[in-house]
Amino acid sequence: MKHFTISELIHSDTAVKRRIWNGATREVEDNLIALVGAVLDPVRERWGKPIAVTSGYRSAELNRIVGGVATSQHLKGEAADICAANPKETARLGRLIVQMGSYDQVIFEYSNADCTEAEWIHVSWKRVGTNRRQILRLLKGSKRYEQISI
Ligand SMILES: [Zn+2]
Repeated sequence: MKHFTISELIHSDTAVKRRIWNGATREVEDNLIALVGAVLDPVRERWGKPIAVTSGYRSAELNRIVGGVATSQHLKGEAADICAANPKETARLGRLIVQMGSYDQVIFEYSNADCTEAEWIHVSWKRVGTNRRQILRLLKGSKRYEQISI
């Protein structure tokens, strides 16, 4: 844990505003630490610029409120939504994660067709089990996740 903290990974403006408990269990915390160690810290080192975490761990209640899917890895502390300075940079950051090769899923969220712009990157890591190395995109205006290769 060099560039990220547990508190920023469990922080949620929505949870604060709606007074929802969003504390991590030991297992969630272990998963977050693994996500940082395997993905976020190494990518941040290479990227060399700030990376903002817009959503990390979500309790079941918080996940419901923000409209997350019921099986979301955010519920286990296995995923983070991150972004860089703008949509182009954010897509570049997603490509860097893919290039570095250490991830479970990388999703270009609200992206354009060729994934050169994205609103945010969803990235996950499984501390236990097999990391699938899947790349997906969700086109702006669509509700369907598509597996892609870049
Ligand atoms: Zn996400």
